[in-house]
Amino acid sequence: MKILVANLGSTSFKYCLFEGDESSLKPMTRGGYERVTDYAEVIRDALSKMKEGEFIESADEIDAVGFKTVLGLDKTGCVAADESVIADLRASADLAPAHNPAYANGIEQFSQVLPKARLVALYETAFYQWAAPASRRYAVPQSWFDAGVRRNGFHGASHKFIAERSAELLGRDDIADRVRGLYQEDRSQAFEPEKPLRIVSCHLGGSSSVTGILNGAAMDSSMGLSPQSGLPQNNRVGDLDSMAIGYAMRKLGLSLEEVERQLTKESGLLGLSGESNDIRDIWKAIEGGNENAALAIDSLVYSIRHYVGAYMLEMGGLDALVFTAGIGENDTEIRKRVCSGLEGLGLKLDLEQNTIRGKENTISAEDSAIKVFVIPANEELVVARETGRFLAHAVNA
Ligand code: ADP
Repeated sequence: MKILVANLGSTSFKYCLFEGDESSLKPMTRGGYERVTDYAEVIRDALSKMKEGEFIESADEIDAVGFKTVLGLDKTGCVAADESVIADLRASADLAPAHNPAYANGIEQFSQVLPKARLVALYETAFYQWAAPASRRYAVPQSWFDAGVRRNGFHGASHKFIAERSAELLGRDDIADRVRGLYQEDRSQAFEPEKPLRIVSCHLGGSSSVTGILNGAAMDSSMGLSPQSGLPQNNRVGDLDSMAIGYAMRKLGLSLEEVERQLTKESGLLGLSGESNDIRDIWKAIEGGNENAALAIDSLVYSIRHYVGAYMLEMGGLDALVFTAGIGENDTEIRKRVCSGLEGLGLKLDLEQNTIRGKENTISAEDSAIKVFVIPANEELVVARETGRFLAHAVNA
């Protein structure tokens, strides 16, 4: 099976070709283009590079193209990327302006360039479908909810991978199996294993979120209607009282567009530190005595712990805390601070193991009741796997 994963931005296109069966997909070749104006042209160029490199003999060998779509108004899950998906991505473009139009156009282009390939959309919101209404609903009037104002949750591909992998690491094959089939099997029945499995996954990168995972499915996440909420992001605000927007418009004389620009481009770690949106630069600024940079780190850690604590309480305990993505995999100091002072709750870090960066590892002490894992994110592999699972299901169905 050959699966192409297409990563589309408003002016960029990256791809990775995977080969193997559903459980052994391996990346064969990858590439990317910036400042794209004609998507059909770069898709054709990418296909000829794959032929030149002898990864494919003809474009017809590509069984499927997987897309990590962000959110839709009426759609979620892992589904055929058809006309209705394209229309829905366009209808909800307001909430994901950088991504939804790019994916709508990209899916359209692929359907023309590769008419024989199956096109599959894996929504970033998919993992949250089974979360309780109480965690998904904002206390807004019904008309707002009906218009799509609800808590969606994001980074679903990454957190689902953590759900699967951490269940494997904990020897909970019952849960790992459930996670693997999550989007392809009927989940209408309540699922209560003999022993619960409670995971909190911290995806900490340029964009960050914390997700509580109960028995393999998300029970809540720090991101809500859009990827704006939750933790302070690289340059996006994270949680903010809704009254602040009108207040800033009146007090600072800003237009709504300018408020939105500042909240999405000049806030988060950049806004707090006044220095950079990159955590490595923020640490350097702290060495130089920048107190605002120190506050940026403190706020991030505070916010991570806030959500970890909330989900731990809601799930009635914690079996594993997981760190993933750029900061989660590499920033040993953030991990140490998130885990500090929790011995009384049964979480003890192995400080030696915690110094290891960028690879899968158990960083909790032997006698820690709560395990702490570092699990590298590989979102392209997740899209390829889910696309493979979708195909296997579609063939068997
Ligand atoms: P994105 O969300 O854009 O995919 P990443 O997951 O790559 O981003 O995370 C970017 C963040 O991770 C940045 O703040 C960066 O400083 C941090 N990061 C990446 N690599 C390292 C590293 N080796 N050490 C410390 N921080 C790192």
